[in-house]
Amino acid sequence: MMPTRPSPAYASLLTAAALLLSACGSTLKVPVPAEGSVDQILSRKHRCSDSLSLRSQALSAQQEAGICTELAQVEQRFHQVFKTQGRPVKGDLNHSLRANIYASNEDFSRYAGQHFNMPTDNGGMYLEGLPDQPGNQAEFIANQRKDGSVRNLAHEYVHYLDGRFNLHGDFCAVLHDSHSPPENCARPAPLTPYLVWWTEGVAEYIAHGDKLSARQREAAAAQTFALSQLFDTGYEANTGEARVYSWGYLAVRFMMERHRPEIEQMLSLTRVGDYPRYQALVRQWGTRFDAEFAAWLKSLSAVAN
Ligand SMILES: [Zn+2]
Repeated sequence: MMPTRPSPAYASLLTAAALLLSACGSTLKVPVPAEGSVDQILSRKHRCSDSLSLRSQALSAQQEAGICTELAQVEQRFHQVFKTQGRPVKGDLNHSLRANIYASNEDFSRYAGQHFNMPTDNGGMYLEGLPDQPGNQAEFIANQRKDGSVRNLAHEYVHYLDGRFNLHGDFCAVLHDSHSPPENCARPAPLTPYLVWWTEGVAEYIAHGDKLSARQREAAAAQTFALSQLFDTGYEANTGEARVYSWGYLAVRFMMERHRPEIEQMLSLTRVGDYPRYQALVRQWGTRFDAEFAAWLKSLSAVAN
């Protein structure tokens, strides 16, 4: 998942807190975090780099170091693949990401809703916020598995990078049909094609590279979708876990390997927020690559790796 912008309720809470602080003036004491508050539960802080900091419930120093190393590699791969030269899209002020990591799925379910005003029926979320607003903090909300590793860590980090370097505007500007909190993107949803195939697919592709997971291999062998159908993949309609993630990965990998010039043309539009021309471009692609995609899937599922 990828959502966000602070909902009006969240934004007004912040304003109230700011007013309260300024009203207290010089007599203000260091506040003790309230019971169950985000500062109390995610009390551990660690800074990986200029672009990444961690806030957690129970990461060990060793786990923090491991996360910093892993995500630095993901970041490097992303910049190499897209040749970004470190230049974000115009107006993107999300200089850094804060990863918020709960100790378990139970803690995530218990607290993330109240801390971040987000649904918790998912494996974690990237909350981009309003990237053109000074002081906006991009957040990634996740949790640790029983073995200590963090669910969807690299995937969510790629959402941050993709949002900053490939896609202009906030989550609601990028074409999809989700209306969930905390963004509550306006209804009605735009017409397809969307960008869900790209955002979720590129997160999987950069996070996991060329090594196929069992699910991706299964999908490739089943040949369930034509490429042209995948451009319409959404979060509410034309959806499903396999379609969004496994098929998103396959579509992005195919386009990156076989049609990179088309992807560069596409990114030249998404980087400036020209989403109507993105849709025109994808409609122009039409079914042109479907046969080649089907053949590529066949060859992919035949290769052992
Ligand atoms: Zn995602």
